[in-house]
This record gives sequence, C-alpha cells and structure tokens, in this order.
Amino acid sequence: MMSDTQAGTALFDDAQGRLEAIFQRLEANGEVRRRLAQPALSLEVSIPLRRDDGSLEVFRGWRVQYDSIRGPAKGGIRFHPQVDQGEVTTLAFWMAVKCAVVGLPFGGGKGGVCVDPKTLSPLELERLSRGYLRAIADVIGPDRDIPAPDVNTNETIMGWMADEYAIIARRQVPGVITGKPLPLGGSPGRVAATGRGALSVLDMWAKHARREPGDLRIAVQGFGNGGYHFARLAHARGYRIVAIADSRRTLHHPEGLDPTPIWEEKQKSRELKGLVYCEEAVRCEQAGTRSGDAEDILSLDCDVLVLAALENAVDTGNVEAIRAEVILEIANGPVSSEADRALESREVTVIPDVLANAGGVIVSHLEWVQNRCGEYRDEEAVNRLLEERLAAEAAGVFALAEREGVTLRTAAYMQGIGRLARAIQARGNCQEAG
Ligand code: NAD
Repeated sequence: MMSDTQAGTALFDDAQGRLEAIFQRLEANGEVRRRLAQPALSLEVSIPLRRDDGSLEVFRGWRVQYDSIRGPAKGGIRFHPQVDQGEVTTLAFWMAVKCAVVGLPFGGGKGGVCVDPKTLSPLELERLSRGYLRAIADVIGPDRDIPAPDVNTNETIMGWMADEYAIIARRQVPGVITGKPLPLGGSPGRVAATGRGALSVLDMWAKHARREPGDLRIAVQGFGNGGYHFARLAHARGYRIVAIADSRRTLHHPEGLDPTPIWEEKQKSRELKGLVYCEEAVRCEQAGTRSGDAEDILSLDCDVLVLAALENAVDTGNVEAIRAEVILEIANGPVSSEADRALESREVTVIPDVLANAGGVIVSHLEWVQNRCGEYRDEEAVNRLLEERLAAEAAGVFALAEREGVTLRTAAYMQGIGRLARAIQARGNCQEAG
C-alpha cells in the first residue's frame, strides 16, 4: 500500500499526465506547459489543537494556490485523514482548470487538514477550524485566495472561519470565504449548487442523446452535499434513482428510491448527537430495498453512475465491473486516467468533473460578487444565473467534443486550458512573479 505522500504524488502525476494530449491539440507553446506544471504557492502549516481533555495534538494542513493567472485563487477546504500535499495540489490544479472551463475570473486553490474530523467533539472541531484559518490567514483574502467547503467541511465550518478572519482583520470581510451561512453573507442556492449544476449538465446530455429522464436509472455513489442534492433534484425532475451509497452501505431498489427520507433519516444521527457529521450509514424502510456493501454500487445495473465521493473511486481494479453507459463526475477526479481510457474504449460517456461539478464554484462566485457589492439576490435569481452560465459553457464543451471528435473530458480541458494559455500569453514575456 502506498503512503499518503506517495498516493498524493501519484494523483498529481496522473492529473498532469492527462495534459499531454491537450497541449498537443491546442498547439500551446512549451512555456504555458511549464507554467502549469507546478503550483504558484504551496503553504504547509501545523495546527495545534487543545483537546477537551486538556491534551495537545498537532495536525498538518496545507493551502495551495495553483495559479492566479485569471483572478484570485478559489477552492475548498477538506478535512480528511488521507489529505496530503499532493492531493491538495492536484485538487487546486483541477480548480484552476474548472474555473477556466466555466469562464469564472478565478484561479485555482485548495486547502486541507489531515484529520479524521469525526473523532473530534463539536468544540474541538471549531477550535481546529479556527486554528487552520489563523495558520493560512496571511495568504488568503477576497482578492487573493477565497476558500469554500469541500469534503467534511460545510457552511457551519465556513461560518467559524469567516468569523476568525473578521477577528484577525478587525472588520467583517465576507468575501474572503464562500459557502457561508446566510446570516453571515452566504448566498441562497449555494448549498445545493453543486448538485443542481450537475443535474443541468446531465439534462443537457440527455437532451443531446434524445433520452427522457424517466427512462434513465441512476446510481449515486456518495451521499453528502454534492450527491444528496443531485439525487433530490434529479428525483424531482423524474429521473429514477435506483441506488444510493455512502461510505458504509449501498441501498438499491430497481423501481427507484426517494432520496429525501433517506437523507432525513441519516441527519437524525447528527441532530441527536449535536455534531456536525452524521454517525449512521444510509437506511431505508421502503419495501423491496436491498442493502449491500459500499462498493456494490459500482457494479449495479443502471444507465447513469454518479460519482460523488472521492478521487480514484474507479480505477483499473474495478472499471470492468461498471455497467452504466454514462458516468457523471460530481467528485473531483473520481476516475483514474487508465480507467478513463478503458471507459473510452468501451464507449462509456464520462461527463467530466471540471464541468459537471462546477455549479458549486459558480454560485461561490455569485456569493463573492454579492459580498463585494453588498446587494443580495434571491434563490430564484441565483439558480437562474447558475443554469444560464452552465448551459452556455457546457454547450461550448459539447460542440467542441463533436467538432474535434474527442471525449467530453478532452473538450472541457481544451476549453479551460485554452483560456488559461491565452491569459498567460496576454501577460507578456517579462513577468517574473505573480
Ligand atoms: P461530503 O463530505 O458532504 O460527502 C461525501 C460523501 O461521500 C459522504 O456521504 C461519504 O459517506 C461518501 N463516501 C466517502 N467514501 C465513500 C465510498 N468509498 N463509497 C461511497 N461513498 C463514500 O462531500 P461533498 O462536499 O459532497 O464532496 C464530494 C465530492 O464532490 C468531493 O470529491 C468534492 O471535492 C466534490 N465537490 C464538492 C463540491 C461542493 O460544493 N461540496 C463542489 C465540487 C466538487
């Protein structure tokens, strides 16, 4: 088994390896390539945490700004025991590509702390969140780098972090972080934005492929922020959600499941303990529901497999078991590049992360704009702006894929890297920093 650091390095090398073919197609010059081969800034921090029992523990964390060529760095903060520098760097790189794919004036950033947050009490979690924010405070800011939620972080944690930044700055600076609670300047629509965006990209694919929602059976791996809201909205639109999995269990019902009661049941375990996280695996009382191991979801008979958990969920070890005709990537990097090639040769359509999960950062951008101008929009307006932007940018990707005869991933990368390359070139020849 690889150590954390080896796994992170392998992930980064895999992500960079995908660029070779893109650069060839774009005929981008070697300087652009060299510029995008490493992050602009990588900060490693240690975060001391006083536990409730009085003992001291120290955690490692990172904040990486991959590039700020098209605007301030933007990207979430992950709390997970497998977080390492390579993973954070890769996620920051994907954010740079994603923001460019959907035309946002942001670069790519990411942060993480190597911790199992579910072992912390609520107050320990708040102290750790504030400690991490203090450790990275010098390198973030509304014009520099704007964090947001990611795996195991949510709006509550963003609220604590925004408050800690306000204490340091001695004024409210809501634009420093997005995904905040509404009373602290969060945007309506942000919580569901990633799932809503993924659904609108799936809708576009279905329209393109002349498929009706009611004929499509969907299995969803990962039942957190991205996976749940996608499943809820897709169910409401008439798609059939035949399976749902979290890290412990798969629920399967060939006729279809309603995601909302499953979510509500899971939330009870959180409310009961007053914690930020759910304690229980997904459960369902609906007659005829079968339950299995978490990984069972990958091999189920379905039309669309939604990957909304973690990186490399599909690799060479399990790619052959996949029976879906379409994969929708809500997670970042859920398909390794070797598995991606295997899927391509089997003509499985992959709707790539840098497009499919961009709804979150699109609404984060709207939140940042609202914070900066002080004028707030209602949820309907935010959802409309999200869907308009995604529709326009996804249409560009679909058209490029058709014109060039390439996969949707290659087309999305061509759109994003092409924009990054043009911004790099437009800045001239003598830049030495920034
Ligand atoms: P989350 O912490 O809210 O949920 C993660 C879910 O994945 C949980 O239900 C967990 O049980 C499940 N999971 C973990 N390992 C699993 C496994 N092996 N099998 C099945 N399920 C498993 O996280 P999230 O915010 O929903 O993020 C999920 C993915 O989406 C990540 O890759 C993240 O980077 C990406 N993403 C999130 C957002 C956002 O706005 N939250 C935006 C873009 C991309």
